[in-house]
Amino acid sequence: MSHLFLRTLRDDPADAEVASHKLLVRAGYVRRIAPGVYSWLPLGLKVLRQVERVVREEMNGIGAQEISLPALLPRDPYETTNRWTEYGDSLFRLQDRKGGDYLLGPTHEEMFALTVKGEYNSYKDFPVTLYQIQAKYRDEERPRAGILRGREFIMKDSYSFDLTDEGLASSYRAHRDAYERIFARLGVKYVIVSATSGAMGGSASEEFLAESDAGEDTYVRCLESGYAANVEAVETLAPEPIPFDGLPDAVVHDTPDTPTIESLVAVASEILGREVAGAETLKNILVKVRQPGGEWELLGIGIPGDREVDDKRLEASLEPAEVELLGDADFAANPFLVKGYIGPKALLDNGVRYLVDPRVVDGTSWITGADETGKHVFGLVAGRDFTPDGTIEAAEVRDGDPSPDGAGALVSARGIEIGHVFQLGRKYTDAFAVDVLGENGKPVRPTMGSYGVGVSRLVAVIAEQQHDDKGLRWPAEVAPFGVHLVIANKDDAAREGAEGLAADLDKAGVEVLLDDRKASPGVKFKDSELIGVPLVVVVGRGWSEGNVELRDRFTGESREVAVASALDEILAAVRG
Ligand code: ATP
Ligand code: MG
Repeated sequence: MSHLFLRTLRDDPADAEVASHKLLVRAGYVRRIAPGVYSWLPLGLKVLRQVERVVREEMNGIGAQEISLPALLPRDPYETTNRWTEYGDSLFRLQDRKGGDYLLGPTHEEMFALTVKGEYNSYKDFPVTLYQIQAKYRDEERPRAGILRGREFIMKDSYSFDLTDEGLASSYRAHRDAYERIFARLGVKYVIVSATSGAMGGSASEEFLAESDAGEDTYVRCLESGYAANVEAVETLAPEPIPFDGLPDAVVHDTPDTPTIESLVAVASEILGREVAGAETLKNILVKVRQPGGEWELLGIGIPGDREVDDKRLEASLEPAEVELLGDADFAANPFLVKGYIGPKALLDNGVRYLVDPRVVDGTSWITGADETGKHVFGLVAGRDFTPDGTIEAAEVRDGDPSPDGAGALVSARGIEIGHVFQLGRKYTDAFAVDVLGENGKPVRPTMGSYGVGVSRLVAVIAEQQHDDKGLRWPAEVAPFGVHLVIANKDDAAREGAEGLAADLDKAGVEVLLDDRKASPGVKFKDSELIGVPLVVVVGRGWSEGNVELRDRFTGESREVAVASALDEILAAVRG
């Protein structure tokens, strides 16, 4: 440590909110260069390399082959798939001296599809899975929490190429299993959630979320069945339709000054002489939607009045279309839209597409806008008085909502996405016409999967899940060193003994961080706790009596062992 390029800090960095960020900076693992751009110092780089090693071993274990593509990429392939445009502001774009457009790769589907197209031309070559561990670039809107959400970050991305759907399913399965092994070895607590596919387009997709309150992803789960899903992927459990017979006719009532659900509920309760619930009202929200390359179109969305629209769910439901709220100009251009009193009738009469929450099944009766200021219609029955164009998952999901599998209630929690497995299908092989000679002499088009692991993010995630108030606490698999040997005794004999022990451990294949600095034991112990090597060995006062101390950074337990057996004891502890 007297030579190690390391300065630990006493104070938390001013810009840090989450524990992993504070600790990784304070313990000298990473340093900030710009928002979302970090340097790795020796200790951090060692942990990063450990995570990479685990990922690499498990990828090689499923027969994936490592290659490395550039991060600096030409525009053309991304133009072909339209992602040059679709990525929007998240893409780092740049120009060379001749004015040619380039980008820094945010993910490499295009390049892998082209790479396979360049080398392989026969069915005999398949299946094949390729991967890389490499820097990715995304101009994130909110780089956050140090290396947790960077603008430059390390990802392992792999891509499978199969000729059949069954082949793709089995490549997907192999990755999913490999990811389970990776995260188990890294000691990360996680859940697997079914996900929506985002900008990539395709079908089956799951995300691995590390459990953490510091996470930005909200997911829900059912404790009874183990069901877990991204909020975007939750399908509302729709009630059974209700027969129309005996349902009273719809009636329009004057409901002055009731543009909000609260005001409407109060007035409706007076009118009906009973407590009306927000869930009995149907609120209609207007947005405009634009399909890629299309025109803006109005869309009406009807959801129970006691719920808010969840923007992420709405966007996921409408993807790849863009959504925007209506502006005053849009209301002015469509006078049939009476703000605060919009009902299904005006929408349907004026040809506005109208989608409703799945709870709005046939036979449900609603209090909703009557398309005139200060008026609502009561007892408007779905399927009898209005027929929507379909359903949409746009309403918020709440704790206590029934799980889609009917097994119990949903509870929400927060997580950090650490991995993503995704059956892409032929989106990219279609875009680049990747065809190979099939068994029967006809061309076949491979189908792809893409699979990502946030390698640099995992360093922060492990720190986030494993730290305590004193510092970091690495699982042995990723620790920067196997043993942190602290010299806490000024005698030459003790120093020599410690150096000898370090040399013996080194010979036995254990990496040792030897604290040989001229500092007080207190400073050294504090640093050892902050740095978080799992086993701390102290050559201290006990040395003259023939003892060294073994401290377990995880359990906090310490014990004395005889110098004579110290090497064996330490090796046993390190090797578990
Ligand atoms: P997020 O929802 O967190 O933005 P994403 O869905 O954009 O992630 P993918 O495109 O699936 O991420 O990338 C694969 C993996 O790369 C993610 O599972 C995550 O672990 C990691 N990753 C993505 N963006 C970042 C980032 N800005 N910083 C660090 N790691 C990231
Ligand atoms: Mg993802």
